[in-house]
Order: sequence, then C-alpha cells, then structure tokens
Amino acid sequence: MKQYPHIAVAPPGPKAREVIEKDERYASPSYVKEYPLVMHRGSGPMVEDVDGNRYLDFMTGIAVASTGHAHPKVVAAIQQTAQRFLHICSTDFYYPEFSDLCERLAYLGPGAGPKRVFLTNSGAEAIEGALKLVRSHTRRTNVIAFEGSFHGRTTGAISLNSSKTKYRRHFGPLLAGVHHLPFANPYRPSDWKGAAEELFRQRVGPDEIAAVFVEPILGEGGYIIPPAEFLQYWRDFCDEHGALLVFDEVQSGIGRTGAMFASETFGVVPDVTLSAKGLGSGMPIGAIIAKESAMSWEQGTHGSTFAGNPVCCAAALATLDLVEGGLAANARRMGALLLAGLRDLKEKHDVIGDVRGRGLMIGIEFVQDRATKEPFEGMCAMVERAAFERGLLLLSCGRSVIRIAPPLVIDEEDVEIALRILDEALLSLRVAA
Ligand code: PLP
Repeated sequence: MKQYPHIAVAPPGPKAREVIEKDERYASPSYVKEYPLVMHRGSGPMVEDVDGNRYLDFMTGIAVASTGHAHPKVVAAIQQTAQRFLHICSTDFYYPEFSDLCERLAYLGPGAGPKRVFLTNSGAEAIEGALKLVRSHTRRTNVIAFEGSFHGRTTGAISLNSSKTKYRRHFGPLLAGVHHLPFANPYRPSDWKGAAEELFRQRVGPDEIAAVFVEPILGEGGYIIPPAEFLQYWRDFCDEHGALLVFDEVQSGIGRTGAMFASETFGVVPDVTLSAKGLGSGMPIGAIIAKESAMSWEQGTHGSTFAGNPVCCAAALATLDLVEGGLAANARRMGALLLAGLRDLKEKHDVIGDVRGRGLMIGIEFVQDRATKEPFEGMCAMVERAAFERGLLLLSCGRSVIRIAPPLVIDEEDVEIALRILDEALLSLRVAA
C-alpha cells in the first residue's frame, strides 16, 4: 500500500505559505511557478511538501528526476564523491569521474562510430556549445530550427526558440542566421517539406547551412512526436549538403522514451546529440556528444569552470547504471500501460483531443472541439490545480497540453493512481463548468 497520495492540509498549507511569501518578496519576478507546491523531501515517485502532504510526481521538475527522487544509489555516489573533493576544474585538470562519464556517453551516444563528449552545466549550455561547434566545424553561420521548439534561456538558445514570444521579446538582437521551419505534427498536419523547399529557393542556399537543430520529440512545444520521415528528411539534407544534424535530447534522452535516446526509436542517427535534465537525476549536468569527425574545435576554444563537476559526473554515472539496468525497459512497459489508460480517458472526456507518447514522454492535448481542434487555452491550469489538490503533480506544455513525465521508476499502482486522479480531476471540471 502506497503512502501517497495523502493530502493532510489543503495546499498551500501554513508552512508552504510562509515560504511562498518570502519567495514572492525576494526572488526575481521572472519565475513562473505553476502552482503552490513547496517541496520538503522526495523518495522515488513521491514528493512531500513542507506541510506533510504527499504527492505522486508525474512531472519530475520538468523531466529531470529520472531515477525518482533521491535514489539511494545516486545519493550514495554523490556522497562518496563529495567526501573526496568537490572541484578541480575539468577544463584544466583530470579526474576519473570526468573521463569515465565521457567514455560512457561516447559509447551510449547514437551511432556506431567513434564519438567525443563535452560536458556542460545545463541544457542551454549544451545548445550554446553546439552552436559554436557547428559554426566552427563547417565555417558556415546559418542554422535551421523549428517552430514550437525550445532550447533554453541563453541568448543563442532563445534565438533557436519559437515556442513562446515571451522567451525572446526585448532580449534582442538575437543570433543572426537562424531560420525557423514547421515541425511535422501528425495531429495538425502542415506542408513542412514545401516550407523547407521554399526557404532554400527564396532565402538561403542549402550549402550555407551549418546545422539543423531539432528536438526529435518536441518538449516544451507540446510533446509532439513527428513521423520518422521528418527526421530522416533532415538526415538526408545534412548528408547531401555537408551540414550537421543536431538532436536536442535534453528532455527526450536518458531512457525517457524507453530507449537511451529518442533518436533510436526513429532509427535516425544525428551527428551531435545534446543531453541534460535526466542525465544527473537532478544534479546539474549536460553533454554534447558528437561524432569524432564533427568535434573538430581546437584546444582552448571552448571550456567551463564548473561543467563536469565530479559530484555531478558521479550522479550521472549512477543514473546511467540504473537506466541501463532496467529503468528504460520499465519506461517502455509503464508507458504502454499509461498510454492505453489515457486513450480510455479520451473516450470518456471530449475535451481530450489527442493522446500521444513514447515511453514515459506522453502528451494529452485539450481542445475546445474535436472537429476544429481549437486548443483549449486555460484548461491545463485547471487540470493541474485539480490534480494537485488530489495529490498528483502535473505540468503543462504547448498551448493546451499536459505533459506526462514521471520518474522512470513508477509501477503499475502509480499508473492506476495517476489515471484515477486525472479522471476525477476532469470530472470535477465538467461539474464545475
Ligand atoms: N532543450 C530542451 C529540449 C529543453 O526541454 C530544455 C529545458 O526545458 C533545454 C534545452 C534547456 O535546458 P536548461 O533549462 O537545463 O538550460
């Protein structure tokens, strides 16, 4: 019998309100805060707030706590490393955790040939590094990115973003030479191939493109799974025109889709894979994993003081052990159960227009009307709140999509609890309407 969900006091309780008040007074106003969750501790898929409420976590701090909260093996790896040393700077010196993780990712990264790895502190930093790498490697400046994509908050990354205007507004001038094209969305088909042909006919030559940056599954943009044909088109384009294919797997990687990287589920091999989020189970670490032939920048041209910190490397190595040791397979099994359950919910609730997923990366899209597919703005906030009050943590993405991104350790009972609460939340909203 699970010790969660358990709502002892309607959130936010008194202790939570104290924290929220202080936060609202002193923290930067740029933070969003989806709903008033004030975390105290976590264990596996369970999050406990400061007032003793316990929740089932189906968002993992935006797809980060991949092995669940405070997995004992990850915590032990962190503690053992922290006792020895915290820092020596990977850019200038050596230590085993760093070279072990580079070796491990070079073998785990997509593609059979030799690869090399640059470690970063975050997803955005992996994007920034990759932008520099592709320009320096190809001696070209233009890149292609996709509508609805999200790659982080730094200036290079926001130049690639097109999921929300607010990420870019007033922060320009942004990087020149970024060309946005439609992402292939099976639920809302478009002529993405025609748009690409038009770009190359009217605005920039294909031989001027350094790289194509693409999330193999759109994350923040709405958990959209393109047909394999879309990714293969860009693979062929890069091969034909000497550009690099960069897969941003910051959200989709590290077992989330049931494979180490989502690219494997499409059968398309990129030249460069970017990782972060789930890689460290919550510790800040990311990676640029590139074909050896593509990682051609010279000594001293790129580095970082903190990146590849020994404690974060240890957490990542423990995470990879767990993902390879059964969690990716569990993601496949639990993902199939969840998807089947959510499709049943779709039969029951007209407000659900589409349910799609791969492994434990699942999107539920809400629409005003199934025929017009008009997004149901505002629905996600209501569903999140209703689920939160019942002990289930969810997170939105896109215009009207709930992203289901639980830790890879969930079991059948967790799936049942989540489906039950989602059903109850949707029923309560129907009554409220
Ligand atoms: N790329 C993708 C696909 C992401 O989902 C995110 C974060 O949500 C990032 C990059 C940026 O990562 P970070 O927030 O670690 O900078």
